[in-house]
Amino acid sequence: MWKALDIEEWQERRRSDLAGVGAAVAAIVEGVRKDGDEALYRFTKEFDRIVLEDLAVTPEEFEGAYEEVEDSLIESLAEAEAHIRRFHELQRNRSLWLEEVEPGVIVGVKTTPLDRIGAYVPGGRAAYPSTALMTTVPAQVAGVPEICVCTPPPVHPLTLVALDIAGVDECYRVGGAQAIAAMALGTESIDPVQKIVGPGNVYVTAAKMMLREHAEIDFPAGPSEIGILADSTADPAFVAADVLAQAEHDPHAGCVLITTDAALPAKVGAEIKRQMKNAPRRSIIEAALGNSGYVVAADLDEAIAAMDYVAPEHLSIQVADPLSTLNAVHNAGSIFVGPYTAVAFGDYASGTNHVLPTAGFARVFSGLDVHHFCKTSSVQMIDREGLEWLGGVVETLATAEGLHAHAESVRIRRRKKD
Ligand code: NAD
Repeated sequence: MWKALDIEEWQERRRSDLAGVGAAVAAIVEGVRKDGDEALYRFTKEFDRIVLEDLAVTPEEFEGAYEEVEDSLIESLAEAEAHIRRFHELQRNRSLWLEEVEPGVIVGVKTTPLDRIGAYVPGGRAAYPSTALMTTVPAQVAGVPEICVCTPPPVHPLTLVALDIAGVDECYRVGGAQAIAAMALGTESIDPVQKIVGPGNVYVTAAKMMLREHAEIDFPAGPSEIGILADSTADPAFVAADVLAQAEHDPHAGCVLITTDAALPAKVGAEIKRQMKNAPRRSIIEAALGNSGYVVAADLDEAIAAMDYVAPEHLSIQVADPLSTLNAVHNAGSIFVGPYTAVAFGDYASGTNHVLPTAGFARVFSGLDVHHFCKTSSVQMIDREGLEWLGGVVETLATAEGLHAHAESVRIRRRKKD
């Protein structure tokens, strides 16, 4: 189960998991396109084994959810929400900045939130109230006025409390590829959105990638992964605990240990065995361990290069000098520095976002943040003085490109007498 890995093969397999569900997802998308709400009821019966009466969660259900949740849980959710809000407020751009770069030449950037976004909150194998916060709070910090949430039924009361704490009240009980199709294409009950964010299983992720011409997406955020960079100073029990925490998400989850210490993998393997004895989600863990294993590298540089190739969703650094290693790595969704920084801190409460690119996509995508919910417009403002400073350059270049009207649009202004 816990075995040496060929990193290239491993990476290839994570991509092909997504491709493998393409045909099934295309059929679901087509069903929603053709039959709208009726298809949502039909697919929910087929895949979630639930006969829905309606799609939209009512205000009474939001209110009633509080009665089913312990006070201490509500307090923890509120605290996590505050930390997530604080971290994302730190990322927010000024809504407008202008800078005079030459006399009479002002340039700048105006940042505008999107009008309507869709947040997918997974809910198949576990309830994810934390993901309800991670997807909606940054959208709110960005100033998005309409936030639509889809999550599979039965919707857990904790998810509703989390949405309510975040201040979101538009929620539909539909999951999987059908939810993504509904948000991208629109149905009778669900208005289409401009962009869809949030993680999900292979069906959700494949649907997001398939529907990009209708709604932009954050990035592929599929089954969870951890990469652990460790040397002989790492505690095998900590490493094993992090592996198990990731493995319990999904049978498709994947964990990779890359270490310079040839003796560490066996110690971690023994710890995994010991710690998973009483794990409630043991069957999911066992399946995920089938996609997991270790690589022994000759030295730390080789280990870092291999981890950069993996580009894991979560990177845990458990080496003697973790800050130097942090400096050296290039590809990871979120980085957890030092032995005490369990990935679970980022999952729930440090405030950083846990919606992160998987399957090697951290090479090109960043994790979810405020900027995913905004667009920017560059701004320029030229007055008479600026016209003189820059007008000649524009006329020369426009003339060289043979664009007479461009040159003339500047010339006509320069000729005008006040
Ligand atoms: P989910 O909400 O993603 O998927 C459940 C839905 O899948 C169901 O509603 C159902 O409609 C659909 N489905 C199930 N079987 C199907 C089938 N055979 N055919 C078509 N549709 C089917 O919930 P989940 O399954 O628990 O997965 C959640 C995922 O999110 C996990 O993989 C977890 O690792 C991942 N996750 C990722 C991140 C990240 O940022 N990358 C963060 C949190 C969670």
